[in-house]
Amino acid sequence: MTLGSNIFYVQDQNQITACLRSHEMVHIEQYQKDGFFGFLFRYLMTYLKFRIQGKSHIIAYYSIPYEQEAYAKERQA
Ligand SMILES: [Zn+2]
Repeated sequence: MTLGSNIFYVQDQNQITACLRSHEMVHIEQYQKDGFFGFLFRYLMTYLKFRIQGKSHIIAYYSIPYEQEAYAKERQA
């Protein structure tokens, strides 16, 4: 999980892959682009919009544009 310019891993150190690091670095760039509160607001509002539309947690999560960008770049790592 990324908060501003800090990355918090819940995984054990040996489970932190280059893909995961790449994913979280995209979120750092997104925070820098949209601002700390701008990123969090858009992220949460988009997630809630999808949940209100009836999507499951996991579908709502993967539908967030910030996540889609991060997963797309993660696959390139
Ligand atoms: Zn993410």
